[in-house]
Amino acid sequence: MMRKEMAALELAFRRKSKITGMLVQYIRKYAEELKRRDGDYVYKIMDFCGTHEWTIVHFGLRSVLEMAGVDNVELVAGPGCPVCVTPSYYLEEAIKLAFEGVVVYTYGDVFRLPALQRVRGARSLAEAKAMGADVRLIHTFLHAAIDAKKHNKPSLFLGIGFETVAPGYSEAILRGLVPPNLKLMSLVKLTPPAMFYALDMVKEKPTDYPISGVIAPGHVSTIVGGKAWAPVAEQYRIPVVVSGFEPNDVLTAVAEILKQIKNGEHKVVIEYTRAVKWEGDLKAQSSINTVFETVDTAWRGIGYIPKSGLALREQFKQYDAFAHFGIPDLTPERWRYDLPPGCKCAEVNLGKAKPTDCPLFMKACTPDHPVGPCMVSVEGTCAIWARFGGGGLALEVAKEVGLA
Ligand code: SF4
Repeated sequence: MMRKEMAALELAFRRKSKITGMLVQYIRKYAEELKRRDGDYVYKIMDFCGTHEWTIVHFGLRSVLEMAGVDNVELVAGPGCPVCVTPSYYLEEAIKLAFEGVVVYTYGDVFRLPALQRVRGARSLAEAKAMGADVRLIHTFLHAAIDAKKHNKPSLFLGIGFETVAPGYSEAILRGLVPPNLKLMSLVKLTPPAMFYALDMVKEKPTDYPISGVIAPGHVSTIVGGKAWAPVAEQYRIPVVVSGFEPNDVLTAVAEILKQIKNGEHKVVIEYTRAVKWEGDLKAQSSINTVFETVDTAWRGIGYIPKSGLALREQFKQYDAFAHFGIPDLTPERWRYDLPPGCKCAEVNLGKAKPTDCPLFMKACTPDHPVGPCMVSVEGTCAIWARFGGGGLALEVAKEVGLA
């Protein structure tokens, strides 16, 4: 997030700090009621999205709740960083192509993403570029299309992202805006199957508490709608709240989840009503479904999650980087564990560990010298904890709301 955007967010927060104070009081009240009912039981709430984790850490919301005496609620980060979960294999293939003269387009937060294996001495696209490869940073697929049309060289777009980016890819294709020399490596991942997987994984750890509620991703839900989370609420009988990204959005979501737990409810509630509808964006969904099909796909360090990825349909294969460049796609048989030794990104992404549980955190692995994939992107939990951890603005927030 840019410095100016951060300042704007902080200003907006200060203007609404009275509401923050009220929300903290609600959370305290519900948490106390649950404690009286359930004793020391800890309610784990998973914030699925990297941007929610950013809000929680930057504004020190965990510390603020602690200062308010809430000790039976734990906010747990989930797998909401697409860069963190893209298998190293695809990155290595992209680096290889870059060295073979293909222009590789990528988003900024993928640039420094470390691969497991070095390719011709380069461990990332940034290193490949430093060694002479043509790697270009862009904001959207459309930017890559416009640029590729100008030079007409063989080009690859590294299509990393969740449902939010998929309409940008499908619409560019459907509207004929992609030049013949540009191919898409679709690495789009779908979030609801990952949420099911993460909830199962946390439940499997017998000594720990299961996830009692979920703060569902706001950006993704603008596309898939609140309805996408109904099976999660139904199957796990837990509340799910689709939340916006301001501190008060997240605190409202926490309060709503605790209220539902207290009342024995498990509903999907859209808190982020200014952007998300129950049905989602039907036009975007139709565009995605026209161009892509749902496939089983691998998540870095985690393995295959059924029906959790998007691949180009047969009739759009002329845009497909795998077919065009002859890259064999990963299969469950060929997938290998792809995190560096000691890196706990898989556990961090599944809500089973905190960045501080990793022995490399802020020692061998830092934002300047990332070892694992969660230390690179602005949505990576380790990168967020490294840059804004240690309480964030908790003391300031606590003063604003009268807790300190
Ligand atoms: S601190 Fe680095 S090595 Fe450890 S889990 Fe995070 S990204 Fe992986």
